[in-house]
Amino acid sequence: QKLKVGLLFGGCSGEHEVSINSAIAIAQALTTDENQSRYELLPFYIQKDGVWSDPAISQKVLESNTPSQLEAPLASSEAHRRWQFPSAVGDVDVWFPVLHGPNGEDGTVQGLLTLMQVPFVGSGVLSAAIGMDKIAMKQLFAQVGLPQVNYMAVTRSQIWSDPCVYTQLCDQIEATLSYPCFVKPANLGSSVGISKVRNRSQLETALDSAATYDRRIIVETGVVAREVECAVLGNDQPKASTVGEITYQSDFYDYETKYTVGKADWSIPAALPTAVAEQIQEMAIRAFTAIDGAGLARVDFFYVESTQEILINEVNTLPGFTATSMYPQLWAAAGISFAELVHQLIQFAIARHSSFI
Ligand code: ADP
Ligand code: MG
Ligand code: MG
Repeated sequence: QKLKVGLLFGGCSGEHEVSINSAIAIAQALTTDENQSRYELLPFYIQKDGVWSDPAISQKVLESNTPSQLEAPLASSEAHRRWQFPSAVGDVDVWFPVLHGPNGEDGTVQGLLTLMQVPFVGSGVLSAAIGMDKIAMKQLFAQVGLPQVNYMAVTRSQIWSDPCVYTQLCDQIEATLSYPCFVKPANLGSSVGISKVRNRSQLETALDSAATYDRRIIVETGVVAREVECAVLGNDQPKASTVGEITYQSDFYDYETKYTVGKADWSIPAALPTAVAEQIQEMAIRAFTAIDGAGLARVDFFYVESTQEILINEVNTLPGFTATSMYPQLWAAAGISFAELVHQLIQFAIARHSSFI
């Protein structure tokens, strides 16, 4: 009996298109001879307005690689009136959510799938939510002694309050963190809403802009460092992959650099002393365990070459998963093919689920 894999993709986030690409790669991986004997694909595409599509429509989205929107998009205040699932949802044996960013990578969908009592790939509610919130994540990293940049947590209400409070806030940021610093919405990805600032007026503009994306904002001291990433796979005995490095010409690894072909380069493995690479792997597993990770995560670091310091930047619990994305490439370098990776993730989902019941 083949297991029916519910591939959940698209979704209400800025990373909708990336999600479609990741889903195409996973759907493809399910068609290899080995996987085809084990699994049957049931795709579910979530439109940008949150409405779920049945497998026939979803299959067309996968084949055409184009977002689809049947009928006029629903306003967010209206969406709940049409909240219903395609009937094929009831046939799914194991879910594979490949939704990046808010409303998918942040614990919301994980909560829904937990309620369905069907196994699902990747993080549970807790690790997904923590992995999405850069403030909660950093507080937890601090607790387990992972070195990281200095930061300050700020709320939208402090930014949009009376000028006196705002001036005090900016003074405090300058005194604590100095320039350059990075201003980020706490719950986003793909560098959306992030600014690097070098003076007071840029700081004010950046805070204002970040506050349009999120109630929670984080400001960090900027470091000059190499950017290295490590993939983690597993549940309670997770394994760390080879370490990879990202290089680019732009000021930082912003949205355009991430998604324009040719703007960023990778080296796998990263050219690092063995001891440094091993320490990064150890820290990646410590971070994964700290957030109660499950299945997969990509843990990103800053390596300050001059001082040989390794600083953790973030954990991404649903990293980009196209055939050319860093996460599967890191495992390919460790000898695990894309198709094998998809199979292992599904098996980890089932193992985790059965440990709950
Ligand atoms: P996202 O979750 O959107 O990827 P990140 O926190 O990883 O957000 O920030 C995106 C990019 O911004 C990083 O890959 C790095 O290039 C740059 N960056 C972020 N924070 C810092 C920092 N404190 N110092 C130096 N560069 C940073
Ligand atoms: Mg991220
Ligand atoms: Mg990042």
